[in-house]
Amino acid sequence: MARPTTAVIDTGALRHNLAQVRGRAPGSRVMAVVKADGYGHGLERVARSLAGADAFGVAALSDAERLRAAGVSQPILLLSGFDEPSDIGRMRALHVDSAIHHASQIEMLEQADPGELIGCWLKIDTGMHRLGFAPEHAREAHARLSAIPGVVGEIRLLNHFASSDEFDDSPSHGRQTREQMRIFHDTVAGLPGERSLANSAAVLGWPDAHADWVRAGGALYGMSVVEGRTGADFGLQPAMTFATRLIAINHIRKGERVGYSATWECPEDMPIGVAAIGYGDGYPRAAPSGTPMLVNGRRAPLVGRVSMDLVTIDLRGVPEARVGDPVTLWGPELPVETIALAAGTIGYELTCSITRRVRFVER
Ligand SMILES: *Cc1c(COP(=O)(O)O)cnc(C)c1O
Repeated sequence: MARPTTAVIDTGALRHNLAQVRGRAPGSRVMAVVKADGYGHGLERVARSLAGADAFGVAALSDAERLRAAGVSQPILLLSGFDEPSDIGRMRALHVDSAIHHASQIEMLEQADPGELIGCWLKIDTGMHRLGFAPEHAREAHARLSAIPGVVGEIRLLNHFASSDEFDDSPSHGRQTREQMRIFHDTVAGLPGERSLANSAAVLGWPDAHADWVRAGGALYGMSVVEGRTGADFGLQPAMTFATRLIAINHIRKGERVGYSATWECPEDMPIGVAAIGYGDGYPRAAPSGTPMLVNGRRAPLVGRVSMDLVTIDLRGVPEARVGDPVTLWGPELPVETIALAAGTIGYELTCSITRRVRFVER
């Protein structure tokens, strides 16, 4: 039997989520962020499903190449920009826009062949302190960029939030986001060009930040980054179901221990299911005993360590389970956020971590 581990991608859910994002930001255009292979859902598949997006955001020029090869005609933004002069010609040929976050990029553009036109989004560091020009240097950067003949059209203006998953629902919440918005508006006041501030969390919780373009990633895949809430809480549909099958059911005696390092002890004589999934497929090894799974659609807890190819499951609550029955690791009936919380991470990391041996199926 072939390994039964699959990631089922619901392309209808992707389209539904795009419509939800549009509904929440009706005055904005939507850039679909498809970095990291569409958050692990498959770049071309996601782009095809989200053909209604106004633009796409990627983190690698090779991803922009794949999108153009797949026939994507919308604008594409390289979110971290180019990092060597030879990228500029490639980006020009592909009609890919660049984020400009550092003086070294402006220098490369100044020295580039003036025939090489490129669309630019100037990134301002309003408090995330990762990429972007400090507010006091942003206008000078804008002026230098504007003077380069190869820069096409109006320079767009970009900000990235650090804590937009904290909504503006109490005086103590959302302070950093309010401050980032204020710094952004003060910095760009009077400059021409479209503005883009919001990631998914800001689409969901910060309507004042929607501006001309929202840049949505997680929400399009049906995920939430808001602590304690799932995509479904915002009307989003999870686009991925990660599933496998039971390949064994064993009856283990009370007091026996299960799995590597014998971390879990049977409290009574009991059935232990073995499913064909492990960290070699992208299921997190950090998931502890008690992390829920669905066996035949019913919740049953993981017990013992996750191994590379297999997990062990307490089947006392699912006595009718048989070898070959379906096991769901996450999906619409079991939010990836629940598994992420148990494993000490976020849903994004889990969907991005599915490995190549998993079979992808579209629905
Ligand atoms: C990843 C990314 C986004 C999308 O973030 P989500 O939380 O997935 O919506 C938006 N903008 C930039 C610059 C990013 O790197």
